[in-house]
Amino acid sequence: MASKYVSLQNLKFTLNRVHQAHEMSHYEYFKDYDEDAINMMIDAAKQFSDTYLFPFYEDMDRNEPELEDGVVKVHHSVKPLLEAMAEGGYIGAGAPAEYGGMQMPSALSVALGFIMSAANNGAMGFSGLTAGAANLILTFAKEEYKEKYIPNMFAGKWQGTMVLTEPQAGSSLSDITTTAKPIGDGKYRLTGQKIFISGGDYDAVENIIHLVLARVEGAPKGTKGISLFIVPKYRIEENGDFTFNDVTPAGIYHKLGQKGTPAMHLMFGENDDCEGYLVGEENKGLSYMFQLMNEARILVGLGGCAIASAAYYASLEYANERPQGRRLNDKDPDQPQTLIVNHPDVKRMLLLQKSIVEGGFSLVAECAKYWDYTRVLEGEEKEKYELLLEILTPVVKTYPSEMGIVSVSNGLQVLGGSGFCKDFPLENYYRDIRIYPLYEGTTGIQSMDLLGRKVTMKQGKAVKYLFAEVNKDIEAAKTYPELSKYVKILEEKLQVLQSVTMKLIGIAMKGNIELFLSDANLYMEFFGTIAVAWQWLKQATTAKQILLTENPQGEDLKFYESKIHTMKFFFAYEVPKTLGLAQRLMDDEVLTIATEREVAV
Ligand SMILES: Cc1cc2nc3c(=O)[nH]c(=O)nc-3n(C[C@H](O)[C@H](O)[C@H](O)COP(=O)(O)OP(=O)(O)OC[C@H]3O[C@@H](n4cnc5c(N)ncnc54)[C@H](O)[C@@H]3O)c2cc1C
Repeated sequence: MASKYVSLQNLKFTLNRVHQAHEMSHYEYFKDYDEDAINMMIDAAKQFSDTYLFPFYEDMDRNEPELEDGVVKVHHSVKPLLEAMAEGGYIGAGAPAEYGGMQMPSALSVALGFIMSAANNGAMGFSGLTAGAANLILTFAKEEYKEKYIPNMFAGKWQGTMVLTEPQAGSSLSDITTTAKPIGDGKYRLTGQKIFISGGDYDAVENIIHLVLARVEGAPKGTKGISLFIVPKYRIEENGDFTFNDVTPAGIYHKLGQKGTPAMHLMFGENDDCEGYLVGEENKGLSYMFQLMNEARILVGLGGCAIASAAYYASLEYANERPQGRRLNDKDPDQPQTLIVNHPDVKRMLLLQKSIVEGGFSLVAECAKYWDYTRVLEGEEKEKYELLLEILTPVVKTYPSEMGIVSVSNGLQVLGGSGFCKDFPLENYYRDIRIYPLYEGTTGIQSMDLLGRKVTMKQGKAVKYLFAEVNKDIEAAKTYPELSKYVKILEEKLQVLQSVTMKLIGIAMKGNIELFLSDANLYMEFFGTIAVAWQWLKQATTAKQILLTENPQGEDLKFYESKIHTMKFFFAYEVPKTLGLAQRLMDDEVLTIATEREVAV
């Protein structure tokens, strides 16, 4: 294994200096999280990850769980991990103190999540899912259920899951058929099957609390007839005894990556004895689940950059140790070989990796801060941050997932043939990251959400707020002449984004929605690259200001200079790719829409 998987200096810089995360401590709700507390918690999370997560990464991959005699045995490290997670307060980190949480701002919890996911991304799934499910219960369920389920979930004794997907309903949740029949007293009897349920069953916890989407008998068709239920694996009787609740594991999936986290095929109510408890009101389940999904989408983006971070440091370490060939202007065979880090193509791959990791994380931190504002502000200001979050959520889910794959792939390439072999972790990172553009809504679905809903919502109000945010940072960058070239490029790109968007909306206004959304995926790539360019300019502005006013020396000086260099790399190598994307998006030729006279693909 490589020795380094994350840069704490980068996390602290991004949080404290670029995004001023400590400003959240001015609000009563987050008052405990000043800069010292943030730094302390980042250091503690690294120590935690070095102990409970990183050492087991490879072994969890090599020893995947199996379903045997109805039991899923997970890796021996999972139980102590969950206990330690609970003890450190990590599972309930974001929840209110009155329910045993730490009221931690998301702007900090994403940094802790980044460290832990970089250390062992699959293992993080267990606690992440429990935290998400618990937050859903806290926000929408009645008090009785909060008291019944939350303490043991935060204690790491009970696993939480999100249970949406069915064989015929993956991206299309409106086709869910799992049925719930009312049996009185807020209870329902559930029947149906669900697939791909992460953490859906295993032996290291006492109970599993499923949050299940199902349709109450007679409910309207489509998304308007979906309700949300708490469905425990074991019902808890009045005296505290457990009764099996007829949720049966029918199979376990054998996956490309994240092998340590079981994804289960589950049967609900095979013996007509599966009780579910309604969360909130009937038929509003999907809107409640969206809270969990939106949180989860930011965390997926976070996980994408975190794996790419671990891969980057493994590649960098290798490139600094592997001698091969000589520099092109100095081919004397009597001279020793040079290290591969000195070859321009290897340097390009490393800079690409770094630019995706640090640019992507900065976008995650921006969204996390918006998320925090939605929790402490009211009225118009709250609406502003809600809309900013709405428009950026599909982007922050997708850019680090898709470009994380590119980043890790380049990282694997840096190792040459060794990258393809199990002696180095790159092949593992490469397999693990491949799931990110698939779950929590595929890239195709996220892209249609961005262009089809978010860009047009409230007559483009979210876009206007976003442009205002970007322009604010452009104005700050104008203070420094060295950045003026990049300011100009970003200003131009914003204009092109506007033209492309107006052209596509023109198609939508003519009613051809299929044509409007046919290249939404390319629009996402275009939009995401510009969003990350914004984050790079913002980071470079902060670095420049520190270089000019704080006279950093040694490693610190290198760090800030590298920030500006990597920003230049992103603008020189990645931003120009938007030209081709814009050209295609403005082109009227139609090649992918199914017609009566079908062309074979
Ligand atoms: C490891 C793993 C863990 C998972 N964990 C969970 C979990 O915990 N809980 C849970 O509920 N689910 C989970 N899932 C399921 C996951 O969310 C779905 O696999 C995902 O939403 C895609 O659904 P699908 O597989 O049915 O693909 P499909 O919906 O069949 O999509 C196939 C392809 O068609 C495209 N497509 C589909 N519809 C459209 C459309 N209308 N327009 C354009 N393109 C479209 C998609 O983008 C995709 O490229 C998990 C999946 C995996 C693999």
